Amino acid sequence: MISRRLKNLILLKDFPIRQKLLFFAIGGLWWLLIISIVSIGAITYVKHLSKRLTDEVSPQIQTVQKAIIKLRGANVSVHNLAIYRDENFLKANAKRADTLLNQVNAYLHALLEGGEIKDYSDLTGELIEEFGVAPVKDREATENYIKGALENNKRLRSIIDELTPVSLNAIKNGRLSEGEEEFIRNGIDKYDLITMRSVTSLSKLTSYLSVSQKGYVRRINSVIYATTLIVVIVVVIAITLLFITNYFVTASMTRPIRAITEQIKDLSEGEIDLSRQITVDSKDEIGELSTNFNLLMHTIHDINNFKKVIEEDDELEDVYHRIAKVLREDLKIDDFIIYEVSNSKNIMRIVETTFKGEEMPCSKEILINCSLCRSNKTGHIISSLTYPHICKQFLRSEGFYHTCIPMISGGGTGGVVLFMFDKDNRDIEAINKRIMRAQQYIKEAIPVIEAKRLTGVLRESSVKDQLTGLYNRRFLEEYVDTLVARITRKNELLGLLMCDLDFFKEINDRFGHDVGDAVLKETANIISKNTRASDLVVRFGGEEFLVILVDEKGNEAIDVAERIRQSVEGHRIRVSGAIIQKTISIGVSEFPADTQNFWEAIKYADIALYKAKESGRNRVVRFKKEMWTEKEY
Ligand code: GH3
Ligand code: MG
Ligand code: MG
Repeated sequence: MISRRLKNLILLKDFPIRQKLLFFAIGGLWWLLIISIVSIGAITYVKHLSKRLTDEVSPQIQTVQKAIIKLRGANVSVHNLAIYRDENFLKANAKRADTLLNQVNAYLHALLEGGEIKDYSDLTGELIEEFGVAPVKDREATENYIKGALENNKRLRSIIDELTPVSLNAIKNGRLSEGEEEFIRNGIDKYDLITMRSVTSLSKLTSYLSVSQKGYVRRINSVIYATTLIVVIVVVIAITLLFITNYFVTASMTRPIRAITEQIKDLSEGEIDLSRQITVDSKDEIGELSTNFNLLMHTIHDINNFKKVIEEDDELEDVYHRIAKVLREDLKIDDFIIYEVSNSKNIMRIVETTFKGEEMPCSKEILINCSLCRSNKTGHIISSLTYPHICKQFLRSEGFYHTCIPMISGGGTGGVVLFMFDKDNRDIEAINKRIMRAQQYIKEAIPVIEAKRLTGVLRESSVKDQLTGLYNRRFLEEYVDTLVARITRKNELLGLLMCDLDFFKEINDRFGHDVGDAVLKETANIISKNTRASDLVVRFGGEEFLVILVDEKGNEAIDVAERIRQSVEGHRIRVSGAIIQKTISIGVSEFPADTQNFWEAIKYADIALYKAKESGRNRVVRFKKEMWTEKEY
């Protein structure tokens, strides 16, 4: 769990796409920042080092070298002091040596305290070069070399001061005394020695400064090397990380999208397993998309299944029952009614409802006059959520909302589904969502309901007689097994009444076939009226009717037969210019009291009918065993 969370965090799975991209940008900038900081740092440092090199060390070395040259120049002039040619030459050399030593002095001071270096030509005195020099900061170097050289300079000057008058004197006298000659030779030797020391000292300073110059160069090189290395490493790390995260992050985004695309492709090609679900392991937009897609697939799957199941249902009632189950259990709708509309009869009946044993929320009027139902009449969804008090037939608008969905099929409304919601329920959006889903199921069910109703009607017409609306003989043949099984199981009795109009042929002959038909219809009505709804009336032949009294008790059959006979006898049928009055003969038997064979029992009723005809017609005759002598049935 924790490792999954960590993985999700690393792969940025739970962040919205916009934030993921932001993280990438920040990541990229971060590495760029590191590279920039390192590079700028390195450049600044290198610049600092090279500035020190060019501004400090190089001018210092140059200064020292100039000082050495000047010292050597002064040395040459001092040697000239031993040549006693003429006074001017001697004075010029003394002056030159003095000037050079002064310059050396100035250079050495500049090396100690910093300052301007001005290099003048020995011969012409013009300025050759001018540059600034920074003080040499190293204590050892200043103590050992510069200060020593300065000291030496003083001594050199004093030697020159000592030698010059002696030489001048020698020129004046025209010759040198022995003592003077030795003095000068010693003086020059001393001068050479001190100059040597100074030059050595300054040479050492030069090499010391060169070492530090090399140190700077080395440092610059290593800084450049280190910086290049760091930048390369950072770039490699950044690119690697970027590639890895990019690979995994994009994979985590593209995998579900690819799966969804595949599902959609399969769906469009018609080959799909709707129960297949996309794995949802992120909370970003992709995760949301996957969840919603799964939900969609789930809904389609459910609706598909639902449609398949109701298509296989035998009875229309089963279909209604299943819709009710889905509404109640899957969509959690607590209050609803499913009405079936019969437009030809202008009635609607409740086929499913959650209102058990309580007053219906709609007026009862709509049941016998279905055009009062607004949804049925208009074929529109009628909802008090959009228009309060929209339907007058809804009696509970004070405390409840209602939405009625018509089931439109074949141009007419085949039914209406009413949903009722408590007004305390404030989540209208959720209500609407449930209604929308219910609508999807209803939409799927409509063609199935229509087909089932149509087969019902067809079946009805194949088992019913067109003229009288009674069941035909075919129905009896189909139904007899079920009926006999039920009677045997419940240990009940069936009364069988075989009815035949007396001298019916006459009617056809006198008034024509149409009048004959009308008489047959009237007779069928009379028979139906004199029996219960649970009894079966079958048009058995042309003008013969078979009445099956279900769950008959004792002599009930005779009574019913007598009632029918009397009703027919007392009935007057008005036809163009005449009044027809007919009689009927009825034979009665009982199943299984008379015989265990149902068809035999019918035959017995027929025999009784024959007896009734024989004995004068317009009468009821109960079958008796002795009536049946031939064993030919
Ligand atoms: P009874 O039964 O009293 O012996 O005399 P009946 O004249 O009723 O007897 P029969 O069985 O000979 O005549 C039945 C007549 O019913 C024959 C037929 O023309 C007529 N019939 C049968 N089916 C129809 C029908 O659908 N319409 C009309 N108009 N007549 C029919
Ligand atoms: Mg007849
Ligand atoms: Mg007949």
